[in-house]
Amino acid sequence: MSPPDGIAMPAKPAATGCHGGAETMQDAARAAGKSAMLDRLAADYPKGPHDQPQSMCPAFGSLRVGLRMRRVATILSGSACCVYGLTFTSHFYGARRSVGYVPFDSETLVTGQLFEDIRKAVRETARPAEYDAVVVINLCVPTASGVPLDLLPKEIDGVRIIGIDVPGFGVPTHAEAKDVLAGAMLRYARNEAEAGAVASPRTKLADGQRVTLIGELFPADPPVVAAMLAPMGLAIGPQIPAREWRDLYGALDCSIAAAVHPFYTASIREFAAAGRAIVSSAPVGESATADWLDAIGKAANISAKTIDIAKAQALAPIRAAMAANPTTARLIVSGYEGSELLVARLLMEAGATVPYVGTALPRTEWSEPDRAWLEAQGTHVQYRASLEQDIAAMRDVKPDLAIGTTPLVQAAKEQGTPAVYFTNMVSARPVFGTAGAAALPGIVATQCKGRERFSRMVGFFEAPGSTKPAKAEVV
Ligand code: SF4
Repeated sequence: MSPPDGIAMPAKPAATGCHGGAETMQDAARAAGKSAMLDRLAADYPKGPHDQPQSMCPAFGSLRVGLRMRRVATILSGSACCVYGLTFTSHFYGARRSVGYVPFDSETLVTGQLFEDIRKAVRETARPAEYDAVVVINLCVPTASGVPLDLLPKEIDGVRIIGIDVPGFGVPTHAEAKDVLAGAMLRYARNEAEAGAVASPRTKLADGQRVTLIGELFPADPPVVAAMLAPMGLAIGPQIPAREWRDLYGALDCSIAAAVHPFYTASIREFAAAGRAIVSSAPVGESATADWLDAIGKAANISAKTIDIAKAQALAPIRAAMAANPTTARLIVSGYEGSELLVARLLMEAGATVPYVGTALPRTEWSEPDRAWLEAQGTHVQYRASLEQDIAAMRDVKPDLAIGTTPLVQAAKEQGTPAVYFTNMVSARPVFGTAGAAALPGIVATQCKGRERFSRMVGFFEAPGSTKPAKAEVV
């Protein structure tokens, strides 16, 4: 994929893991018997052109998915510094739950005692009155040392035991780590459902055909989607990642899995194994919503006439919301949530110019409609975007507003460009349907007004008589 005129992409940065030793860790893990697991991760979460986007420890994604579930205990196995960072971050994001930890030293690691300690911790934690499942997450060092979580019991007194390896040298982003745990749970739940009767979700499932939405969504988004599907007689079921174990059965019990976040490769594999249709893209803006409702309707064998009725009801208010919230801003969009292409597509339909979209996630077949649409408008779509590529794009595009990761926002503000953190923007607002068509262009218009303020700030901090910002001096 070549960049459009005017955007110079920097050379590929050198591959580095969290501690600069990804290849060493990979070699150690393979020597310790983890080759099949690493091959699976490499196939599910392909790397390149940049080997590992700069973001937080990937294991946070798995930890977060476990911590957000009712009646699920989560135990980390890893270096104390990694566990400190992960627990700090999870409590910063309001986990309000304890995180289990099995510590180790070089002796317990090399003698195999660490695995025995993990097994003991799992036995003590698996109390059926309190938990449906116990999740154990191997971080980098235990994974590289071959700690065999697959040898843990699969179940203790009815409590499911899920052991997963989530090494930073195998899972590129925290977004994909969400899929590692969600996929492992779906696999377990699918096998249970295929073996016999399972519990119903706490909230009764809607009658008729259901659509399961895959992705962590703003709470107002699923009801918006449900309203768009209702004219076709379709409903939504529990989402993935699930909030309770029994919701996994409800999520699997659908006609269609909608990959609205396009990187849940392991989860989608389980829906496909269960015989469910998979639909790409998502209902953002007018054209994507029309295409998405068409695809959903066809997958559910709904008549063309009924699909047209659903489209007419959904599209008119979206069109009106966009007309009421126009934008002419020039933007770049970059993030590591996996919804970057959708957000860019929505903003372009609202009138924005978006020459560059970067995402830390890989290219998958479920974002293909959005990639094709964006590139047809002349937008450069950069999968596995590095910070260096995002910054180079910002310098070339000279946007009115940069929507991006924390370091990109910092770089933008240093040069006086208004900028907003992608995650904060999309996680606190609806994206789908009419609500998204009003909310996102609105925030862009508000943020763009800050340009003059940023210019004043840059001017204020510049040293007198200098064209460079003032530097602190040690006296
Ligand atoms: S688990 Fe691995 S990627 Fe995460 S902080 Fe520790 S060394 Fe880094």
